[in-house]
Amino acid sequence: MRILIIGAGIAGLAAALALVRKGHEIQLIERADTLGEVGAGLQLGPNAMRVLGALGVAEAVTAAGHCPQAITLRDGRTARPILTVPLGDSALRRWGARYVALHRADLVAILGAALEAAQPGALVTGRTVDQIDADTATVVTSDGQTMNADLIIGADGIHSRVRTALFGADTARFTGHVAWRALIAVAKDDPAAPPAGVGAWLGPRRHAVTYRVRPGLINFVGVTEQTDWREEGWNLPGDPARLRADFAGWDAITRLLARAEQPLRWGLHDRKPMRAWHRGRAVLIGDACHPMLPFLAQGAAMGIEDGFALGELLPIAGDSAAIEAALARFFVLRQPRTARVQANARANGVDFHEGNPLATLAMRLPLGRAAATRPDAVMARWDWLYGGGPLVPARP
Ligand SMILES: Cc1cc2nc3c(=O)[nH]c(=O)nc-3n(C[C@H](O)[C@H](O)[C@H](O)COP(=O)(O)OP(=O)(O)OC[C@H]3O[C@@H](n4cnc5c(N)ncnc54)[C@H](O)[C@@H]3O)c2cc1C
Repeated sequence: MRILIIGAGIAGLAAALALVRKGHEIQLIERADTLGEVGAGLQLGPNAMRVLGALGVAEAVTAAGHCPQAITLRDGRTARPILTVPLGDSALRRWGARYVALHRADLVAILGAALEAAQPGALVTGRTVDQIDADTATVVTSDGQTMNADLIIGADGIHSRVRTALFGADTARFTGHVAWRALIAVAKDDPAAPPAGVGAWLGPRRHAVTYRVRPGLINFVGVTEQTDWREEGWNLPGDPARLRADFAGWDAITRLLARAEQPLRWGLHDRKPMRAWHRGRAVLIGDACHPMLPFLAQGAAMGIEDGFALGELLPIAGDSAAIEAALARFFVLRQPRTARVQANARANGVDFHEGNPLATLAMRLPLGRAAATRPDAVMARWDWLYGGGPLVPARP
């Protein structure tokens, strides 16, 4: 089939690669002039890494990033560990793939290069899709070009224009969370560097996440709460002094933040679950249909899984009825898993920010003890996510 994918984020790139590998002819249309402008870290759970393995890029992704040995939840103020989930070889043994942290731009570059090798010229940058007709699978770009295909895939993110064209306008809801983001350079043996592995630092009405994305480069995400958010976009510059003030008293974090030069901030939004992801010959994937709060680090992973799943389900050639049947099956198989991930991420947001000392003790003490004595039991809590799901490649 000829397939038009709108949006070359992680979901669009993964879908393009999965579909090209099945023999479809792809045009992937991106409004930005170049890929990978957003400087941020990404964690890829074993579920995403198994998909990337099936797409032939897991080795390159692992080499570009690093494999943390554990995720450690800590008290933000005292840095005392609350709970440790083993990763490293334990993740490989249990879930059949490693857990990888890397720079988002590195993942985008690897997916983009693999796509270019598989179908040269598939990616078209610097072109914004303005109008979408799902019945005829036709789009019009802002420079007046009309493009037609057998299927349109909307991978255009949380403010998806394809979604609006299919189902009408519906504004994203501000969740009350504002995320700070910074990539922070640290020298070897730098006392400002956070402990190795993925660190989740918890406290009343705020939390932070730290991990290494490249040698000497730490990804920092800090989430605070506020009632209102009016700006749009991923890249709003924030005031470093205000960032440090937001985490005052968290010594390990403020030591690291002393090195942060150009933090960015943006308001986190989500949407009500959708009752359908497709209409006619158009379908949504990734944040366009199930935007994720970042508190489970699975938004990109779900987009990667979506792309692979479409590759498995779509007929190699087909009439409208066959395509619509595949899209209906895609929704039935994928929606419950993505909804569960959304719900878990939302719940983490509440747990991470709990301010009542008794409630945190009651919640965290038993978990911490269980993790220390039976790490396997703690890992088992994540089998449903990291171990797979419908249309996610099974662990070897
Ligand atoms: C603080 C934070 C940390 C996160 N950490 C993680 C993590 O560790 N692990 C993880 O898995 N996920 C993480 N996520 C989530 C993840 O970043 C997103 O869920 C994921 O990037 C969504 O991918 P996407 O491809 O669906 O959308 P996007 O990344 O938003 O991509 C959409 C693309 O479409 C393009 N586009 C939009 N409109 C048009 C148009 N009209 N025409 C042409 N092109 C268009 C855009 O330019 C963009 O390139 C995090 C999110 C946040 C906020």
